[in-house]
Amino acid sequence: MAEVYNWQLGREMSYPHEAHFPEWQFAFVFNPNRCIGCQTCTMACKSTWTFSKGQELIWWNNVESKPYGGYPQNWDSKLLNMLEEANPGQQVWNIAEKDSDTKPYGTFQGMTIFEAAEKRPSPDGPQAALGYLPTDDEWRHPNIHEDTATGGPFKQDGQYGASAQLPEHKVWFFHLARICNHCTYPGCLASCPRQAIYKRPEDGIVLIDQSRCRGYRKCVEGCPYKKAMYRPTTRTSEKCIGCFPRIEGKDRTLSPTGAPAETRCMAACVGKIRLQGLIKKNPDGTWADDPKNPLHYLIRQRQVALPLYPQFGTEPNGFYIPPRWVPRDYLIQMFGPGVDHAIEQYSCPDRELLAVLQLFRANQQIVFRYEIEEGPKVCEMEVTMPSGETKVQELYNDTVIGFNKLGEEVVRVTIEEPTFERPAEAHVNSI
Ligand code: SF4
Ligand code: SF4
Repeated sequence: MAEVYNWQLGREMSYPHEAHFPEWQFAFVFNPNRCIGCQTCTMACKSTWTFSKGQELIWWNNVESKPYGGYPQNWDSKLLNMLEEANPGQQVWNIAEKDSDTKPYGTFQGMTIFEAAEKRPSPDGPQAALGYLPTDDEWRHPNIHEDTATGGPFKQDGQYGASAQLPEHKVWFFHLARICNHCTYPGCLASCPRQAIYKRPEDGIVLIDQSRCRGYRKCVEGCPYKKAMYRPTTRTSEKCIGCFPRIEGKDRTLSPTGAPAETRCMAACVGKIRLQGLIKKNPDGTWADDPKNPLHYLIRQRQVALPLYPQFGTEPNGFYIPPRWVPRDYLIQMFGPGVDHAIEQYSCPDRELLAVLQLFRANQQIVFRYEIEEGPKVCEMEVTMPSGETKVQELYNDTVIGFNKLGEEVVRVTIEEPTFERPAEAHVNSI
């Protein structure tokens, strides 16, 4: 085992391979506060890549209703239980010491899937990453428990007895959209005995070489997010390929000048919950200082978007703005100890944060840099914060401008949505 640095855990950890870092890293921010569970993203991916025979149960993109839904079913709670069994009572964070560059969420003191694997040999011998192979039944229902809420006790008349008011709803669910996280330390790659899985040096996308794969399904076992999937007709495993032709700027309809474009699932998102980017990496794996990159701003500077289950230890490159109505203990086990800070930021965004949030789904090309043009003050609003305290939010009609990798302007959005009145003489249904 090599020792590698995992900034999400705030410490070094064991990993079966030496660290190698790409020049750019595929990354994304999802905002479950806005996801409506329409599955347009799911179908955009399905109709592009996984519509063939043998791919019936393969959903590289899925959207599950938490807390009960999951694809495969119970993928996260099963692994969390396995980690707890391997290291009882010790899967905890120390949040006393933080550093925005090296340990923004404090230090995870528990065991990752790589460290716990050494303690728990599987029937086939030692695993590279703690994991399990889901049963066929667990793969069978991609949207099980759709829109099913959990919450307080029922009243006699069958009504929910608990409220749905902020700061935390007592009856709640939320949609969790998921794709492969193109992890920095992938569990799938670590588990493959054929060395068929590799991480591209140019953009960090993790791919399975179909000519090397023999279908042992070790990647399915070793991916903590269960985003490597087995296809019985080819007898190989497959996974999200990050729509790499789009990332390479090969789709000239979207990118006439060859600049990188967003993936199909991102570009199709109806709820405007998705923002994709490429993160510039330093040779030592740290993030290059790139303050005007919208993902860098949301994830590293404002810490409003958090990794999904950072404690697994793969350093996932998918980040989420936690849904603010969900009980905090649930969110903290899912997104780590940065949840309170992230929700505080999101509940009353300041001028710059509000502008950057407008970039979600505003264009199909990846935004590498933004600028803000200041506009006039529109109004003031009183906002109740999660703590119960009130704040005054000032709204300005600023304009955020996005630039692609080549420095070309690709999008311009104002805070206030423009409205147009149709001339009454031209349209009979005008008011
Ligand atoms: S999410 Fe799973 S399949 Fe994707 S890179 Fe990470 S470990 Fe591999
Ligand atoms: S398209 Fe967007 S809003 Fe619809 S389910 Fe997917 S992530 Fe959610």
